[in-house]
Amino acid sequence: MEQGLIIEQFDELRALYSGLTLQKTDGVWDIQGLLVFIANFAEQLIEDKYSILLLIPESYPECVPVAYETGNRIPRYFHKYKEGSLCLGEPLAVWKTFSEQPTLLGFVQKNLVPYLYSYSYLCQNGKLPFGELSHGELGRIEYYQDLFNVRSEHSLFGLISILAQGEYRGHIQCPCGSKKRLRYCHGPQVLEIMRFAPPGYFKVLYQFMSQRGMPI
Ligand SMILES: [Zn+2]
Repeated sequence: MEQGLIIEQFDELRALYSGLTLQKTDGVWDIQGLLVFIANFAEQLIEDKYSILLLIPESYPECVPVAYETGNRIPRYFHKYKEGSLCLGEPLAVWKTFSEQPTLLGFVQKNLVPYLYSYSYLCQNGKLPFGELSHGELGRIEYYQDLFNVRSEHSLFGLISILAQGEYRGHIQCPCGSKKRLRYCHGPQVLEIMRFAPPGYFKVLYQFMSQRGMPI
């Protein structure tokens, strides 16, 4: 990670979000402070502010920042990972959005603010503004069926098992049923997802699917 890049990108971010500061603690860059936004994603103008912390990983910008809400406003059940960081969406989707504008400003505007907006919206209206954010495991099944372009849940389960176990073996037969080896079929997609999502991320989905009984 390039120090100059972080400082340059932070300056761009602070020009719009003046409540944020950048610091380096024990070799790790982070951004914290009050994020004030006005946004209108779902036909409702919302102005709100959240205390946030963004940890910038060593591999940035190959990986996105890890975001936390530090004002204890957003409860655990609202799309958070176990260790408390915000689940901004499926990791690959977050990455795709970030890679369109791979800067700190891009991350805040395209990934973080929509998430905060949706929580503010929920508080004001009692429902979520975007259907896709209320995913749950069934929504995730649909998301990954689309992503992998597999129709049967049985095939998907094979691919999710690989992700949940975190063990990639390119020579095995691809679980999608194509009869090709994994590396010549869904392997590259699986590897791309593994870059952004650790096996733990798929544990709940894996358990959910294995208990569900699989329509083939
Ligand atoms: Zn395949």
